Amino acid sequence: MKLRHFADSFSLSRILRSKPALLKTRELDQLRAENARYKALLDAAPIGHFTLDCEYRIIEVNPVGAMLLRCATKDLTLTPFISKIRSDDRIHVSDSISGTTVTGDCTVSTSLKIQNREVPVMLHVTTVNPSNNKDYRFHVAMLDLSEHHATQNNLRIARDGLQHVANHDPLTRLPNRCGLIEQLQSAVTASPNEKVALLLLDLDQFKQVNDPLGHQIGDQLLREVASRLLSTVSEADTVGRLGGDEFAIILKGISGVAEVARIAEKVSKTLEKRYFSATYDVHLSASIGISVYPDHTDNSKKLLSYADAAMNDAKHRGRNLIQFYTSALNTRLTQRFELERDLRIALSESQFELYYQPQLDLRTNSVSGYEVLLRWNHPQDGVIGPDSFIGIIEDTGLIDPVGEWILEEACRKLIQLRRTNNNIKFSINVSAKQLVKGDLKDKISAILENTGVPANAIELELTESALLENADHSLKILQDLRDAGVDLAIDDFGTGYSSFSRLQQLPVTRVKIDRSFVHDVPGNVNNATIAKAIIAVAHDLGIEVVAEGVETPQQASFLSDATCDVLQGYHVGRPCTFAQICISEAMTNSANQLTGQLSDQTVVA
Ligand code: C2E
Ligand code: CA
Ligand code: CA
Repeated sequence: MKLRHFADSFSLSRILRSKPALLKTRELDQLRAENARYKALLDAAPIGHFTLDCEYRIIEVNPVGAMLLRCATKDLTLTPFISKIRSDDRIHVSDSISGTTVTGDCTVSTSLKIQNREVPVMLHVTTVNPSNNKDYRFHVAMLDLSEHHATQNNLRIARDGLQHVANHDPLTRLPNRCGLIEQLQSAVTASPNEKVALLLLDLDQFKQVNDPLGHQIGDQLLREVASRLLSTVSEADTVGRLGGDEFAIILKGISGVAEVARIAEKVSKTLEKRYFSATYDVHLSASIGISVYPDHTDNSKKLLSYADAAMNDAKHRGRNLIQFYTSALNTRLTQRFELERDLRIALSESQFELYYQPQLDLRTNSVSGYEVLLRWNHPQDGVIGPDSFIGIIEDTGLIDPVGEWILEEACRKLIQLRRTNNNIKFSINVSAKQLVKGDLKDKISAILENTGVPANAIELELTESALLENADHSLKILQDLRDAGVDLAIDDFGTGYSSFSRLQQLPVTRVKIDRSFVHDVPGNVNNATIAKAIIAVAHDLGIEVVAEGVETPQQASFLSDATCDVLQGYHVGRPCTFAQICISEAMTNSANQLTGQLSDQTVVA
């Protein structure tokens, strides 16, 4: 719009100059005033303005125009406008200006050549009075684009920078998950006929190294892992960090599975070498999952999930392994997805139920409590035990709502049961995932308060591995729970790595001898010795002992002789529903009352 104004102003000045005789004085004054206004506007305009004669010489220029050409206004008079344009663009600009005699106006981007410096500008050229060749004039409005270019440039740099940040991991400077997915996609699309392999690496038990050494050293180790990976593969390949202790490698143009396996071996060996400094001396290993394009899939997203499935398989099969993707893994992956979906439904549709297995106290020869065991009442498959789904519940984070439901439901039932037997206790299994979250104590305290269950009426069972994971953090949470009055038991004792000295440091009240040490006693001398040793040392530390999986009277009498405190297993009773334990508690109660009455009568008699 502004450019048009300048053109209009020029026509007015031209009228004033060419036809004064035809105009009356009042009109003349009016036009002069208007002309002065336009001139003032032009002078104040933030863009350059030039009037050129028919040979493109400057005959009028406003201050901004003169400033753009770095000249005084007076020095520009009759200067060829084109001489100020970058030399290699002069023909293009003069053609554009002359073209306006036909088109009326045009816009052209070019650059000025000012003191060896190029200034990008945009010109809007208007032809004035084209019908009279003698009076040919061109009006040129000039906009300085250098700032705009600088801004564009800055924007581009900022955009590139942001893109880099978004696609890279700040710790190792390797592409992150986003960057890696992009690279994987372009590797696959750039050379669709070449094979591409994706290796996903998960450092085995990195947490166990990271936690005691501290995060600074953990970071150093991760950087060292990154540089070892980079040194193992060729420059054309990509190494990325997916997050935490997960890395990835994209191998391009590989000949086949054998070559990938060879490189994966090399990667594995490189990572296994000692990590050594003044403050640490560490060994690491990785579980590696591999998928290959196009052998396994031609879809880059699937390539990632296939390598992930292979990596998880390697991890579950014992770590420090290399696993290629197989279609059997895919079937398992699909089953897992379906199971996860069904478990979510199970939670929302109340398909979970708690079962209770009695624990017999050998000192009083009575049931002192029950272990709470989770069951899934599957609409088609019937009652399902937790071994087939507890892992998925933990991996998918469902353990939070399910774990909370278990604690609440157990406490609701316990308060009912304690109306008939005030000494009954429940042992509730808690997974490592629940423990490391940190809010377990608050959640339990709230549940105890809401249900009215006293803290010492529940015991939490934690496996040795749960206690070892994040050991320092766990210890603090365990101590808080103990301080709150909740009892703690080490579950499956003997199967993990915790030693008796570790046992001493933990604020536990009971250990549960794993059933693998119980099932063949007293015949298996080794297991019999282990069971006796556990009982002796635990007692020495003031810790009670529960034997799990007691199935026969022989096992029971061996454990009783070995001064085991509590027995749990099919010999004592199978896990049963709440209704069943209520009946059994009621019967025990009546039997006790009857025994009491009989003994009273005996006393009277
Ligand atoms: P666990 O804590 O070691 O539980 C004992 C398991 O041994 C139970 O299996 C129980 O049914 C079984 N068992 C009891 N007595 C005998 C016996 O005499 N012989 C044999 N062969 N087995 C016996 P279940 O209920 O299938 O539970 C399996 C595991 O699932 C549990 O092992 C526990 O680790 C986990 N689990 C169960 N309920 C829960 C829960 O509520 N939360 C969490 N986080 N884990 C749970
Ligand atoms: Ca248990
Ligand atoms: Ca157990």
